[in-house]
Amino acid sequence: MYQIIDGKRISQEIKDELKEKVTALKEQGRTFALAVIQVGDDPASSVYVGNKKKACAYIGIESLSYELPEETTQEELLKLVQELNGNSAVGGILVQLPLPEHIDEEKVLLAISPEKDVDGFHPVNVGNLSIGRPGFVSCTPAGVIQLLKRSGIAIEGKECVVLGRSNIVGKPMAMLLLRENGTVTVCHSRTRNLREITRRADILVVAVGKPKFVDASYVKEGAVVIDVGIHRNENNRLCGDVDFDSVAPHTSAITPVPGGVGPMTIAMLMHNCVEKTLQ
Ligand code: NAP
Repeated sequence: MYQIIDGKRISQEIKDELKEKVTALKEQGRTFALAVIQVGDDPASSVYVGNKKKACAYIGIESLSYELPEETTQEELLKLVQELNGNSAVGGILVQLPLPEHIDEEKVLLAISPEKDVDGFHPVNVGNLSIGRPGFVSCTPAGVIQLLKRSGIAIEGKECVVLGRSNIVGKPMAMLLLRENGTVTVCHSRTRNLREITRRADILVVAVGKPKFVDASYVKEGAVVIDVGIHRNENNRLCGDVDFDSVAPHTSAITPVPGGVGPMTIAMLMHNCVEKTLQ
C-alpha cells in the first residue's frame, strides 16, 4: 500500500507554525509586510494573488497590494520596484508573473533587491543556493523538500531524479536535493533513454509540464514520486505531470494533484517572508 503525501495538511501545518511565530513576534513590536504587484487583470494571476493575500492575512503578514493597469510601462513598474526596495517597512516584494508582453520580465525580476526577493528568482539567490550560502529559495522546490521531510522520507544517499530543468523548478530542485545529500540526476528534453534513468530513482520529482506524461513504465517499484505539474484536463479537472492512477500502486509514496505540491508553494512563500523579517 502506498502513502499519499498530503500537501494540504503539511502546508497548513507550516502556515500554523508561521502564524504562531508571527503572533509572538508582533507582540514584541515586529512588523511583517509583503508588497504584491500585479500588472493587468489576467484571471489566473488574480486567483494566485488573491490566495497569496489570503495566506498573508491568515499568518498576520500585512500585504501591500499594487494592482496596476495593463498599460503600465516598464519604467513605471521599475520605479515602483525601486521605491519598494528602498522602503524599510517592506520585507518582501513579489511581482506576479506573467507580465504583459511589452514588459521585460527579466529586467523587472533583476530590479528586485535580492534581500527582498521572496520568490527566490534573483540570480544572487540562485547563486547562493548553488554554493550553499543562505538566501531565498524558489518556493515550489523548497516545498517539495518540506513534503519529503515532513512525511518521514529520507533524502540522504538516495538516487534522486529530477525530470525537468527549468530555472524555477527543475534546477533549484536538483540543488536542494544535492544539499540534502541525495545523488542527483537531472533529465530534460534531450535526455536519451529517459525511462532507464527515471527507473533508477528512489525519489522521482516530475516537473516536465506535460499532463500525465509519466506512467508506470517510468517508475521503479517502491519509488517515491513527487508530481509538480498542474494542468486542467478536457473535463476542466486538475491533473499533474504524472498519471496518478497507473503510477501510484507501484510507489511507496506519491503526491496527488490537486493537494500535493500545489499548496506548498504559497506556504513556502510565507515562510520566506517571515524568515526574511527575522534576519
Ligand atoms: P517548463 O519551464 O516548461 O520546463 C519543463 C521541463 O521539462 C524542461 O526542462 C524541458 O526540457 C523538460 N521536458 C519537456 N518535454 C520533455 C520530454 N519529452 N522529455 C524530457 N524532458 C522534457 O516547466 P516548469 O515551469 O518547470 O513547470 C513544470 C510543471 O510544474 C508545469 O506543469 C507547471 O504548471 C508546474 N508548476 C507547478 C507549480 C506549483 O506551485 N505546484 C509551480 C511551478 C510550476 P528542456 O529544458 O530541454 O526544454
